[in-house]
Amino acid sequence: MNVVEKRLSCDHSEKYLVRLADGHAVETLYMVDEARRLTFNSTVCISSQVGCHMGCRFCATGRQGFIRNLTAQEIIGQVDLCNRTRKNAKQTPLEAVVFAGMGEPLRNYDQVKAAVLELRSRLGLCQFELATVGIVPKIYEMIEDFQGSDISIRLNLSLHASTDVQRRQIIPMTQEYGVEEIIQAAAAYAAVFNTKARIRYMLFHGFNNTEGDAARLTTLLQGKPLKLILSQYNENNIEGLTPANRLEVLDFYNTMKTTVEAEIFHNFGSDIQGGCGQLKQTVAV
Ligand code: SF4
Repeated sequence: MNVVEKRLSCDHSEKYLVRLADGHAVETLYMVDEARRLTFNSTVCISSQVGCHMGCRFCATGRQGFIRNLTAQEIIGQVDLCNRTRKNAKQTPLEAVVFAGMGEPLRNYDQVKAAVLELRSRLGLCQFELATVGIVPKIYEMIEDFQGSDISIRLNLSLHASTDVQRRQIIPMTQEYGVEEIIQAAAAYAAVFNTKARIRYMLFHGFNNTEGDAARLTTLLQGKPLKLILSQYNENNIEGLTPANRLEVLDFYNTMKTTVEAEIFHNFGSDIQGGCGQLKQTVAV
């Protein structure tokens, strides 16, 4: 595998288009954040699948459909390529690896787990984050697998809706697990690891930013070890979805912060199509 294209963002993020041995491609994003808005200064966001089953309407990867799972070696290979390619590799060691690139990592959990274990043993990395739409049995499997380990995997649950009906409109393949069930699993995970799981909520104008949404979110999240992370939608020109503007995001944040712990997410690399929901395979096979 090799890097066939590198793009630089004005926020110093670097995005790599990585071609795999069979000609498919995935994208990898390196983020440097001295202000530690991501908690870590030096973080690589990697892909776990070529394409994705889940079909999230707002996501460029989801619109491509699923092609195949990555192997553990292809997952680790992105970290190695990032360390060989990024311009500050000598001065700034990687602090964390985030599974939030292309693919649903819990749909390829065995390979993701093998990659985590090898990154821990070979590179000494023990800080991870995993973004999921909420594959409930796999969340409980992660508890079993990593309880008592020195590896920390922060759970980042992509909720984006306050009801099951609403969620199915934007994340169609998650109908197996309801909103309450996935929130319960995230809270159980966070309680075991004595941390807070992050609940990602991307705001769409007139769709999920109403007073009713705020009230339902409060009921779902209040009193649990969860932190609400609000973000603005990275425009992908999808019919029927319009990003909430900055003022609407701020309004929703001001409402939510009175009842639950909340923050507004800083999007990295959105000017190079490297932000959440913007990664995709962009070379022909
Ligand atoms: S947001 Fe994540 S889970 Fe949804 S389609 Fe995109 S890559 Fe898949």
